[in-house]
Amino acid sequence: MVVLNYSFLIINSSFFIFNSSLSKMYDIQKIREDFPILSRTVYGKPLIYLDNGATTQKPKCVVDAIVDEYYSVNANVHRGVHFLSQQATNLHEASRETVRKFINARSTSEIIFTRGTTESINLVASSFTDAFMREGDEVIVSVMEHHSNIVSWQIQALRKGIVLKVIPMNDRGELLIDEYEKLFTPRTRLVSVAHVSNVLGTVNPVKRIADIAHAHNVPVLIDGAQGIPHIKVDVQDIDADFYVFSAHKIYGPTGIGVLYGKENLLDRMPPYQGGGEMIKNVSFEGTTFNELPFKFEAGTPDYVGSTAMAVALDYVSAVGIENIAVHEHELVDYAMRRMKEIPGMRIFGEAEHKSGVISFLVGDIHHFDMGTLLDRLGIAVRTGHHCAEPLMRRLGIEGTVRASFGMYNTREEVDALVAGIERVSRMFG
Ligand code: PLP
Repeated sequence: MVVLNYSFLIINSSFFIFNSSLSKMYDIQKIREDFPILSRTVYGKPLIYLDNGATTQKPKCVVDAIVDEYYSVNANVHRGVHFLSQQATNLHEASRETVRKFINARSTSEIIFTRGTTESINLVASSFTDAFMREGDEVIVSVMEHHSNIVSWQIQALRKGIVLKVIPMNDRGELLIDEYEKLFTPRTRLVSVAHVSNVLGTVNPVKRIADIAHAHNVPVLIDGAQGIPHIKVDVQDIDADFYVFSAHKIYGPTGIGVLYGKENLLDRMPPYQGGGEMIKNVSFEGTTFNELPFKFEAGTPDYVGSTAMAVALDYVSAVGIENIAVHEHELVDYAMRRMKEIPGMRIFGEAEHKSGVISFLVGDIHHFDMGTLLDRLGIAVRTGHHCAEPLMRRLGIEGTVRASFGMYNTREEVDALVAGIERVSRMFG
């Protein structure tokens, strides 16, 4: 049984003490009780939330942490001598340590707080390009990237004339590693790929991808938006040069995320934005910049968000990311098996290593119609191109219906999804 009692956040000098007597058995009912929204109804039906790829629901402890910090600690961080400011600063920096531990980074200097995956990629795209790239230099991405890992580089292509190269995939939705190797030239400066595809669920072999890039002396950015909620991430084991993710996709709050970067690269990259916090000294003659990680954190950070993100990561650790991975793997396997029994079912993404997400179409039922009608049954799924239009083009479709799973989803919910799809299919004859 997972017993998580974050309900009393004791403020003891400068840290919240969480009383979490934790045991690692996977008690799905207990977990579900931690997420109040899961007991609500939609159109009079119990909510079945299968849109976790877009955002996850929040356990009570995360929401409590936000409320408690605003009610009892709130003060701007880093620049105050007074008690509250120091307490808020301690919480903020303790959260950085929680993130460091969660992804096994070497140092908190390598943990930059951002607004999320998108901002983290934009930060690297802008700053890395300024530091290391000239017109004609190349970045390798893959055909299954989210727009944020395509357009950020295209903006740099417009600004600086850098060139994008694209790793293709096979029909199962697996990247073609032989083709990837052929893309390297003396002008290759960075590889930037998703850990897990938000459409196909493919778990990319990021360690191998990094090894190959490093053999060419090229660093690697891993977009972990869909990886971190489902898979144990160890940035040192992957040997990622950058790893980025959003808190809201791992049961944390919106508006905050992380850029992990190796210190030797971040040190040589210029600031992304100017403002308070990121400077050492300012004069009209010239300004010196702060050390890592603050060099990349201009302005007041989301210090309440960082606390809540740390609580979310602690929650995930308490349940056990490996336990979550096993649970979700069983669920996706079961769902794939059941869904394949539905006449006319087409599933996009049959990679050997798959996680969290099932994209599908049935017959010629439009994805929007399927999503709308499932919604009337209380089943929340996503429809459309999922911010991956180049991938849709590769698949020869406009969009899919996407069911994406989280730690709290159940087999019964998969059964309801399958029954819902069958019902909609019958309606369309
Ligand atoms: N990358 C991937 C693979 C995603 O799935 C998403 C969001 O769905 C993003 C990047 C962007 O994340 P955010 O909107 O939290 O910045």
